[in-house]
Amino acid sequence: MELGLAKTRLKRMTEASCIFCNIVSGDIPADIVAESSNTLAFKDIAPLSKVHILVIPKKHYKDVVDLTESSPAVLGELMAQATNLAQQHTNGSFKLHFNTGAEAGQTVFHAHAHVLSDESKDDS
Ligand code: AMP
Ligand code: ZN
Repeated sequence: MELGLAKTRLKRMTEASCIFCNIVSGDIPADIVAESSNTLAFKDIAPLSKVHILVIPKKHYKDVVDLTESSPAVLGELMAQATNLAQQHTNGSFKLHFNTGAEAGQTVFHAHAHVLSDESKDDS
C-alpha cells in the first residue's frame, strides 16, 4: 500500500476511537459551552477546580505540538476561544495548560487546552 494512503487509514482509525473526535461528531455527549468554526469547548467530566473547561480543535491533532506545526491558525483560534471563555467564566485569574505526552499527564491524545480556575465569575 502507498505510504500516504496507509497514513490516512491509520489516522481515520485513530479518530474513530478518539473520545474527543466522538464528542465533535456528537456520538458522545458533552456539556458544550462554546463553538467556533474550528474549535469546540466543553466542561471537563472530572473537574479539578471550580472552573474546568477543555478547548479542542474540531480536527484531530495528537497534541499541541502537532497542532502548532500543522495548523497555527487553528491554534490561534483555540487560544482566542480559551482566553475569551476564561474571561467569561472567571474573575480574570486562571491557568491555561496543555499536558503534552503521557509522562506529563496527557491521557487523551487529541490536542486540548485546559482552562482552570478556583475563582469563578459567580464568586465576585
Ligand atoms: P489530559 O489528562 O490533559 O489528557 O486531559 C484529558 C481530560 O479529559 C481529563 O481532565 C478528563 O477528565 C477529560 N475527559 C475525558 N473524557 C471526557 C469526556 N467524555 N467529557 C469531558 N471531559 C473528558
Ligand atoms: Zn481526536
